[in-house]
Amino acid sequence: MALLTGITKGGASWTPTFVEAIDPESCIGCGRCFKSCSRTVLAPTEIEDEENDTISMVMDVADADDCIGCAGCAVACPKDCFTFAPMEV
Ligand code: SF4
Ligand code: SF4
Repeated sequence: MALLTGITKGGASWTPTFVEAIDPESCIGCGRCFKSCSRTVLAPTEIEDEENDTISMVMDVADADDCIGCAGCAVACPKDCFTFAPMEV
């Protein structure tokens, strides 16, 4: 199976990887990824901890289909929360 590839402005080949998931256990809800994304891929969401009766904010993948594979979110994230995968074509 081939992978989707593109080219840089300089003509070099590259293989974009697209966001798959954000680890809610690692996310601290800082919002840096959200601010760095130029698309509508990410959205904050609340997680309820019934045991401790707390609600915390974490980032979630709201629209993975709008991801362009730029990796800006991963560069901005201080907790290494993101996983990515190339696209098979
Ligand atoms: S890879 Fe780029 S487009 Fe995709 S979610 Fe991250 S910042 Fe947004
Ligand atoms: S940058 Fe990382 S830690 Fe901060 S909200 Fe996004 S996924 Fe969570």
